Amino acid sequence: MLEDKFGRRFHYLRLSITDVCNFRCSYCLPDGYQCDTPRDFLSLGEITTVVRAFAELGTSKIRITGGEPSLRKDLPQIIERCASTPGIKQVAITTNGYKLPQMINSWVDAGLTNLNVSIDSLDPRQFHAITGHDKLQTILQGVEQALALGLKVKINSVLLKPYSKELLSTALAWLKDKPLALRLIELMETGDNHDFFNANHLSGQPIKEQLLAQGWQQSQRDIAAGPAQEFSHPDYQGRLGLIMPYSKDFCASCNRLRVSATGNLHLCLFAEQGLPLRPLLADGDVAALKEKLAALLGKKEASHWLHDGFTGATKQLAMLGG
Ligand code: SAM
Ligand code: SF4
Repeated sequence: MLEDKFGRRFHYLRLSITDVCNFRCSYCLPDGYQCDTPRDFLSLGEITTVVRAFAELGTSKIRITGGEPSLRKDLPQIIERCASTPGIKQVAITTNGYKLPQMINSWVDAGLTNLNVSIDSLDPRQFHAITGHDKLQTILQGVEQALALGLKVKINSVLLKPYSKELLSTALAWLKDKPLALRLIELMETGDNHDFFNANHLSGQPIKEQLLAQGWQQSQRDIAAGPAQEFSHPDYQGRLGLIMPYSKDFCASCNRLRVSATGNLHLCLFAEQGLPLRPLLADGDVAALKEKLAALLGKKEASHWLHDGFTGATKQLAMLGG
């Protein structure tokens, strides 16, 4: 089992398979994806080696992310490789959802167990203003299909000052009779979004207080769960979660590691640098990779330095997948 010097155990790998994205979310890629670097992303074989090594070290959950992971044509094969690796119990994907209606059946057939879809507003005009795309209805249709297929579905919504009030009221109405988990995520500062962050960041704490006052109850965290504080309410089928990376002790429950689309291990979303694994991936040497991972984990720090404005090497989250 991968365990760091602070006693944290790592059951959960976030694996980015591409940096490329077709959306222009205002907090992430406001000018769209810039094609100025070579695209030499991990191959299916390299991904298989990474997943095997992590699984043998106790990882039970893989989240495939990006950029936009559905832009990779071999995504169903990648899901299948993850799902068929001994020890992996959950295969999740985080997507902007624009391909959901066409692709969801093939992802489920390949072994997908969990789906996260990013929807920052349920108002089509606001959605367009945030993402640069007029795709809300298509994405919502894909969410319905995923629910009908029995997938566990979460919706990620970034809290942005101008839209948060309306987001909370429309989201609560939506959750009344939908078995979804909606995650409200505090906007994080990255290398590229300093001014946007200062103008739009909102703390989740007042929302937490509002939920508790309205009869929502905080639930216990599962071992392989993500970083959200979760809430449920007897009158609602859906659940709400708050991800508050600026809250005290956020990093104490960290249970995840990240591998970038070019094969670098990131011990934290906001670490100073990625640690290259690729030289060990070419010949599929799982044993050597396991040894390297265990050694590199010794460098993991207790916490990020976001409160002090240090965003590490992460210019935007499309680089690593959030
Ligand atoms: N393209 C996919 C998507 O949007 O779901 C996957 C990659 S995206 C980087 C993963 C998640 O990170 C999304 O839910 C997105 O909203 C979130 N995200 C991106 N930049 C962020 C930021 N600066 N602060 C908080 N969340 C952010
Ligand atoms: Fe693309 Fe996801 Fe970033 Fe939006 S948040 S620009 S969909 S990578």
